[in-house]
Amino acid sequence: MTSIKLKTPTTGEYEQPTGLFINNEWVKGVDGKTFEVINPSTEEVICSVHEATEKDVDIAVAAARKAFDGPWRKVTPEQRGKLLVKLSELIEKNIDTLAAVETLDNGKSIAMAKGDVAAVAGCLRYYGGWADKIVGSVVDTNPDTFSYTKQEPIGVCGQIIPWNFPLLMWAWKIGPAIATGNTVVMKTAEQTPLSALVAANLVKEAGFPPGVINIISGFGKIAGAALSAHMDVDKIAFTGSTVVGRQIMKSAAGSNLKKVTLELGGKSPNIVFDDGDIENAISWVNFGIFFNHGQCCCAGSRIYVQEGIYDKFVERFKARALANKVGDPFLADTFQGPQVSQLQYDRIMGYIQEGKKEGATVVTGGARHGDKGYFIQPTIFADVTEDMKIMQEEIFGPVCSIAKFKTEEEVIKLANSTTYGLASAVHTTNLNTALRVSNALKAGTVWVNQYNMLHHQLPFGGFKESGIGRELGEAALHNYTQTKTVSIRLADAIF
Ligand code: ADP
Repeated sequence: MTSIKLKTPTTGEYEQPTGLFINNEWVKGVDGKTFEVINPSTEEVICSVHEATEKDVDIAVAAARKAFDGPWRKVTPEQRGKLLVKLSELIEKNIDTLAAVETLDNGKSIAMAKGDVAAVAGCLRYYGGWADKIVGSVVDTNPDTFSYTKQEPIGVCGQIIPWNFPLLMWAWKIGPAIATGNTVVMKTAEQTPLSALVAANLVKEAGFPPGVINIISGFGKIAGAALSAHMDVDKIAFTGSTVVGRQIMKSAAGSNLKKVTLELGGKSPNIVFDDGDIENAISWVNFGIFFNHGQCCCAGSRIYVQEGIYDKFVERFKARALANKVGDPFLADTFQGPQVSQLQYDRIMGYIQEGKKEGATVVTGGARHGDKGYFIQPTIFADVTEDMKIMQEEIFGPVCSIAKFKTEEEVIKLANSTTYGLASAVHTTNLNTALRVSNALKAGTVWVNQYNMLHHQLPFGGFKESGIGRELGEAALHNYTQTKTVSIRLADAIF
């Protein structure tokens, strides 16, 4: 069996594929292994899915290679664009089911899951639009030669995605890879394989030729490692932890020097100056850390507040965090659901204990929410010093650290004192302050008077140890093409 009937509280019964999606077919893993998928709200098993091991990675890569060298080459850019747009329309048509599956498997609130699925559709449509706009250039070097460049696809792309935005990361990776004419073997995160499998049926329905998009479920150390070390994978794109990012780069270097793009961790600063609208700033600070239960690589987890408003800010922010509704993610007004897994729950609780031990002030939270599921109270630590673990390390949960600052110069130094550089934000009504601080921050994104407002038209990615390359926007296309120079002699030989 490669599918099973499941139920969600909002959409009722649906058909959940459980196989590996290779060559537009549902297959079992060669080794016959399966693994259980857990509902983080109840800690119960949802179903089991087939697990890809090295042999399945080989089969999927061979399918992607065959498609790349064969039928996919003959598909015109315009047709590629149409396929992506068609897929986007099918995603939109199935928004309720896809969102419910995401909520079931990942635990994010149904409202946020619907937002994710809408963003998936937007992203695929956007890259569909790019497919027939990938151009090279003519370079005039001298009258006796005619030279031009072409942007060609890289080939078979391995793509490894995390569990925090299972379907959105799927779209961020597939969109630019397909728009530029590559083929894909995607490994989803072992914690959250379900929504991508449902979407795989839509890939087939949209009309993609077999082998162009292959989707496998499996573990990082087995299927992920096999993909990143594979000799016939031309490029690997990874989103996840910095630790694993380093391993992927080593595998690429140790195998065939496949091209690598990485979107890794963060410990992003969120700076609040005392000249602005405090309630507005609090709303964005709250959203910056507690959106998606803090499970965002760009989460605004280091909050620097100017001394003039510090006490008032901490008190008001506490009230705001307490108003976030935590609980059943299938209820329409829930803001925060459970963390994704027992492992993540334990890691986060470990950091909370550490923060208490190191002497930071618990303003609110600091404990489990309820007694079933991986729920954690929104947690605010104040008076956090730079040397504390909770100020330095990525927690990836609903936990933030606040510290006081006096001057602009001081806060820029504090904000940049991290090995990460993914995102940042400044809250101020002074235009000059906003621009000066934005220029000084060493981060791939600076939000001014907002937070977490990603958009598929805007590039996203990391400075420093937060990554290599950019996702989204036109920038992501460069990750998936290589430049070919063709230079033609128009005159007689000179040597
Ligand atoms: P987290 O610790 O938050 O789960 P990871 O970086 O471990 O984040 O996981 C992100 C993705 O990377 C997942 O799909 C996971 O299976 C995969 N992964 C984990 N370890 C490896 C590895 N050694 N090689 C390749 N992929 C891996």
